Amino acid sequence: MQTQNTNMNNIGVVTKKLLGHYDVHHANTITTCVLSAKLWKSFEVTNPNGDSHRVIAVHEKHMDPVAIGDRVTFRPVEDGTGMILDVLPRRNYLARGSAKPNPRAYSFEQVIAANLDQIIPVFAAANPRPKWHMLDRILVAAEAHRISSTILITKYDLVKGRKGEDELLSDINRYKEIGYPVILTSAKAKMGLDDLRNALINRTSLLVGKSGVGKSSLLNILDPSLDLKVQSVNASTGKGRHTTSHLEMFPLAMGGNIIDTPGTREFGIWGLDPNNLADCFPEMRPFIGKCKFGLSCQHDEEPGCAVRKAVMNGTISPFRYKSYLRMRMDL
Ligand code: GDP
Repeated sequence: MQTQNTNMNNIGVVTKKLLGHYDVHHANTITTCVLSAKLWKSFEVTNPNGDSHRVIAVHEKHMDPVAIGDRVTFRPVEDGTGMILDVLPRRNYLARGSAKPNPRAYSFEQVIAANLDQIIPVFAAANPRPKWHMLDRILVAAEAHRISSTILITKYDLVKGRKGEDELLSDINRYKEIGYPVILTSAKAKMGLDDLRNALINRTSLLVGKSGVGKSSLLNILDPSLDLKVQSVNASTGKGRHTTSHLEMFPLAMGGNIIDTPGTREFGIWGLDPNNLADCFPEMRPFIGKCKFGLSCQHDEEPGCAVRKAVMNGTISPFRYKSYLRMRMDL
């Protein structure tokens, strides 16, 4: 363990948050830090539209000014702990709406993770069944924050050569045609491991998937030093058990980091301007502005809508268009 110089501030990366304590990684050392009073009092966040604003009250329990992946300035103290003094500007971040938005504040999004190279939505080929509308929500959230996505399908052995394989491949094709990379894997059959390794190496990736989809099993094969706990899936419901509720960033021995989001059962697109929603569907972008009502078209029931025409002629998948309409309703 390296000795920390307690007379100067260091810059490190937040790898874990738990009960008001933050692990900060710096020079191969982890320092468990608390936040300075100044950080609690005022904190600058940037909303998805790019304009900066100041959150006035962050004393609410659900509002945390520091996210996993944040680069922070911290000061170590003699007993080996430290204090986070400042959060450096974020390259990007992924957020979801707070469970209890405060109407007095301008924005109450909850930052899940910052400074990401990619988001990896993880769905099992079966057990549990993939939820494609949920995938669309994750992809839209990633697009809204200009973060690229790679789709990871696990447990492929459960469908290979069986009824259901063709349907799965046709669902997956919908995303490949848009341009999203899709990796098919099976921890059990040791399938697709090189493709996954190539996707993860030297990048910071946020894995988003329900517990039980097989993330730990795969990651343990790629990097046995992670030693993640593999859990049992309830045979009747296909649902995984929640074991942890905190986010954590793990460095990979091969280079790169992964952030797991344990137990992600829902994924909101809170805060997105409905007028920008179509722009978060890459396949709709070529048609934006080409409708009869130009940029004011909501691509719903307006006459002369270029997006709807593209759905009719098969250029845009009806399933994805349905996801668009559902999300518009939610927003
Ligand atoms: P996590 O919650 O996403 O980390 O999922 P786990 O890795 O803990 O796995 C959940 C369950 O799925 C366990 O019962 C695993 O044995 C099972 N599982 C994981 N990977 C595979 C796979 O490739 N094929 C099959 N058939 N089962 C798997």
